[in-house]
Amino acid sequence: MASSKHDPRAAIDVVQAPGTRVGLTTPVEQLGRVKGLSLRDHERYISLTMEFRCNLKCVHCMIEGTMDKLAPTSDETLDRVCRDQEDTGRWDGLVLTGSEITLRRDLPEIAKTAKAAGFKHVRIQTHGMHLGRTDYADRLVDAGIDEYFVSIAGSDAESHDRITQVQGAWDKMMRGMEHLDQYDHIKLITNSVVTTQSYKLLPGMVDALGHLKRLVQMEFWNFFPMAENDPKDLAARHSDILPYLRKTILKCRELGRFVEVKNFPECMLQELGDAVVNAQPMLVIDPDFWTEFDRNGFYQCPHQATCASTECLGLTTAYIGKFGNEADMLKPISGT
Ligand code: SF4
Repeated sequence: MASSKHDPRAAIDVVQAPGTRVGLTTPVEQLGRVKGLSLRDHERYISLTMEFRCNLKCVHCMIEGTMDKLAPTSDETLDRVCRDQEDTGRWDGLVLTGSEITLRRDLPEIAKTAKAAGFKHVRIQTHGMHLGRTDYADRLVDAGIDEYFVSIAGSDAESHDRITQVQGAWDKMMRGMEHLDQYDHIKLITNSVVTTQSYKLLPGMVDALGHLKRLVQMEFWNFFPMAENDPKDLAARHSDILPYLRKTILKCRELGRFVEVKNFPECMLQELGDAVVNAQPMLVIDPDFWTEFDRNGFYQCPHQATCASTECLGLTTAYIGKFGNEADMLKPISGT
């Protein structure tokens, strides 16, 4: 096995696709520092964006303006990644994502190819609606997809359908999750975008999914607008989100679930700051995506230079433009 197995630069060389970025903000040596509180498996996964159509219209969609222009990861890149996996066993898992990967008719075949190449896990990132067709969900399981990373926009049918702007989306997603929950070997993970429209719903999301036995981790991604401003007024003030987020983290942990919070000031969560995990799997995506992404301008906390946090992304340009730099509210974390 090559000594470069866990070297992200070596992995980028193998992928040979412009736009590939290692999605880690956590230094490799820090990855194990709070074992047990989150899956923290991102460095062992590679994410391919293989479909850029979607049939929901989530108000917070990060790529609604660019979706039509982004090119999916090519089959050649998939082949290259699979061949390398056969040779090196570099990764534990492959994440198939895009906009909505279940719109790809050959998804089961892609999953079978990945399994044959030696990926232990194949994860899909999905809005979950198509999993409501349980015969389709079974086909995906049979093809080897064993991890389902499902987007939860609201805490019930009314709020989820309002935010995704498609009637019936919640019921289909929930039917699919409950069906998959019957498989012993399946992992369910959720992600929810935290916006002005959703932050008050967060504790209710945990309650609504409390019965799912295979739900191992819930992720809460604080919204950033992929721009220097926030034209849809979706970014909420951190101090408004905080009490709901704290309650949500505690509820997850009471249920024995891992939790990850992304893009929220670590210092504001105080003793729950270990929930902040900004790491992501290595992402293979059309380079044009990064042009929009980089407009966010992370790491703009007034205390960044003196803060010892290795995880925090600070503030974005849009956040500061809307709420100021919060210099009094944010408290640099001291090194030990
Ligand atoms: S002081 Fe700034 S960089 Fe440090 S944890 Fe708080 S928001 Fe993040």
